[in-house]
Amino acid sequence: MSRSAHPAGPRHADVFPEGHYSAPPADLNALDPKVWAQTVERDADGVVTVGGMAVTRLAEEYGTPAYVLDEADFRARARAWRTAFGTDADVFYAGKAFLSRAVVRWLDEEGLNLDVCSGGELATALSAGMPADRIAFHGNNKSPEEIERAVRAGVGRIVLDSFQEIVRVAHIAQSLGVRQRVQIRITVGVEAHTHEFIATAHEDQKFGIPLAGGQAAEAVRRALQLDGLEVIGIHSHIGSQIFDMSGFEVAAHRVVALLKDIRDEHGVELPEIDLGGGLGIAYTSDDDPCEPHEIAKALTEIVTRECEGARLRTPRISVEPGRAIVGPTAFTLYEVGTVKPLDGLRTYVSVDGGMSDNIRTALYDAEYSVALVSRASDAESMLVRVVGKHCESGDIVVKDAFLPGDLAPGDLIAVPATGAYCRSMASNYNHVLRPPVVAVRDGEARVIVRRETEEDLLRLDVG
Ligand SMILES: *Cc1c(COP(=O)(O)O)cnc(C)c1O
Repeated sequence: MSRSAHPAGPRHADVFPEGHYSAPPADLNALDPKVWAQTVERDADGVVTVGGMAVTRLAEEYGTPAYVLDEADFRARARAWRTAFGTDADVFYAGKAFLSRAVVRWLDEEGLNLDVCSGGELATALSAGMPADRIAFHGNNKSPEEIERAVRAGVGRIVLDSFQEIVRVAHIAQSLGVRQRVQIRITVGVEAHTHEFIATAHEDQKFGIPLAGGQAAEAVRRALQLDGLEVIGIHSHIGSQIFDMSGFEVAAHRVVALLKDIRDEHGVELPEIDLGGGLGIAYTSDDDPCEPHEIAKALTEIVTRECEGARLRTPRISVEPGRAIVGPTAFTLYEVGTVKPLDGLRTYVSVDGGMSDNIRTALYDAEYSVALVSRASDAESMLVRVVGKHCESGDIVVKDAFLPGDLAPGDLIAVPATGAYCRSMASNYNHVLRPPVVAVRDGEARVIVRRETEEDLLRLDVG
């Protein structure tokens, strides 16, 4: 199909009469710095570059689909969190958002700590040389083998998630002659997502020990009696993709109230609190995330104020951003395979990846943006749905967005803000091969996670 041959898609107003969706952007060639990594720009020829490398060249050398990660942006975000919290607090990067050995080394160099939540994540962290005392081990059902490996490695903390685990970790640590530093993860009855939080009944989930009914206090009571454990603090993680601080305010208030009860009952002031992660990023131009220094200031003030009120020494704070560090640093580069206009509806744009490299849209109805990146275009905008190549009609990458009406097979498009929870949640559905992660910096690209091959797939299939 020639570029001019196929018609622009339907007008936006025809499809969404309520005006619920954003209007098409005034300039489809513009790249909103809110959703794109810092070094991304469009060059004089209209081709998008990142870290000084044209996406067309990246596609030639590494193929598509590919996750393209801006290393300078990653380091800048990690450093911004580190600097914002200063030396009286700790920043643990949540490895589940995206973990590779290169990323572990960048974090180490930038002075961040690391959260892991499985033996595999622990092995990755240790193999890249992250000092074990800067690793926190999470998870609601760590196996005895995983616990033993973590204790033997000397991880800085294990976050205890249940009554059974308190006993399990204590037993394993004691049998290894170790007093393991632990935090106890509680659920404070707050769940926050995006602009809202709900302050009732959110103990109804698998993670953590409820504050309600005195369960958290009982967990602390038991843990304090066990020789294998050194209880260093309380942990609370309230949600994800959070844009306002009110949920943290309530959580901090409740955690500090527990610290006060612990002091009153046991005469012990626990030295640390962890307020978790969950800080939001911009997936589209409509999202307005907080900056790390605003978050650090707000959390420090909340905790300090609450502790003064309770006459407690202010504990050392730690936070665990995952998405907020890696999310904005990468985009997924796809090649357009087919373009199908549906009159009065929208145009379906099929790419060479899909739900296997980005499950978030299917899983959470996540919103993304998209841009034509291999060239600029002055064509009128059309409403599109970007879909993958999988045998599943829910295989949607970007539900509603605008692209130039002359989009055609062979064009490269990119979906920004896919650094978090895309590669880490990638699957082999339909035996599609998982894309590589290509890190770009100062005009050079290198593969930090290579593309999967058919040999990789067949190696596991032992017949
Ligand atoms: C997932 C998770 C995080 C990171 O969440 P983000 O939304 O990526 O910031 C931090 N802490 C815990 C305990 C988590 O489960």
